[in-house]
Amino acid sequence: MSLLPRALPETQSFWDGAESERLRIQRCADCGRHYFPPAPVCPFCTSREVAWEDLSGRATLYSFVITASPWPLWNLAPPFSVATIALEEGPRLLSTVVDCEQTPEALKIDMPLVAAWRTFGDGPKLLCFRPAGDVS
Ligand SMILES: [Zn+2]
Repeated sequence: MSLLPRALPETQSFWDGAESERLRIQRCADCGRHYFPPAPVCPFCTSREVAWEDLSGRATLYSFVITASPWPLWNLAPPFSVATIALEEGPRLLSTVVDCEQTPEALKIDMPLVAAWRTFGDGPKLLCFRPAGDVS
């Protein structure tokens, strides 16, 4: 069994964007709100008038834990963060913060972040975030 993510019809646009390092999520044409995870119906107003948009990638750190368990499937050695990221456009999603010490002293709630794409093991490019202002 593989735990690597794979595209489904509802998520294909997200993964197409990921391959070219563009953060793409859906926005409702009726209520104007962005949402994630992908769905054919707006979770706020049930409209089907939704479309994909490229976002800025700007975000802030909403919450995090630092895990001490390895994740061998993706060659991740602890410590690494599992973080709730608040996108500038509103939605929150789970990810990790990279290019940053994985300590409570370095990871600060509300710290500005920007999307950073990383590949782990044989998987596709995954959406991570790094501190804004750092150049990678
Ligand atoms: Zn809506």
